[in-house]
Amino acid sequence: MQPVLAFSCAYTKFSPVEEWEELYQEVILEHSRRPRNYGALEEADGRAMGHNASCGDSVAVAVCLEEKRLRTIRFCGEGCAISRASASLMASSIEGLECIEALRRIDGTIRALGGGELVDLGPCTVLLGVRKFPMRIKCATLPWHALREALANATQSLPPVSVTTSCG
Ligand code: ZN
Repeated sequence: MQPVLAFSCAYTKFSPVEEWEELYQEVILEHSRRPRNYGALEEADGRAMGHNASCGDSVAVAVCLEEKRLRTIRFCGEGCAISRASASLMASSIEGLECIEALRRIDGTIRALGGGELVDLGPCTVLLGVRKFPMRIKCATLPWHALREALANATQSLPPVSVTTSCG
């Protein structure tokens, strides 16, 4: 039987949860203090409200579309650092995408935050740390559910779009 090689201990597996401990300070708190895309949107195509009773977070999301693209996302409301940072990261990473792609990212993020398959969430990967804290999952997913609803409201007035996805 081969002895366990000493250097094998040096290998570290990527762990979003462990990395989150360090990233929490600089990313979550930074976005919480200076949220991107924060504010009202007078002329919105779609709006939605979200409320998380367990933490007291509330968020209002408004969107403007341009053809099939999600041109502008704004949010406002009151909430904990996680919900504010999640909304800020969401708005700044989803704004500008085509609606189909935005919807796919929203659903993928909600699934991943809730404990589903780990996917690359880009700048929002830092949010995956909430998987370790079930009470905070709702804080993180709240703005994403609100954006999904606002997008649904906005696209109701649009002609039906093809749901085929391109791999290109
Ligand atoms: Zn919260």
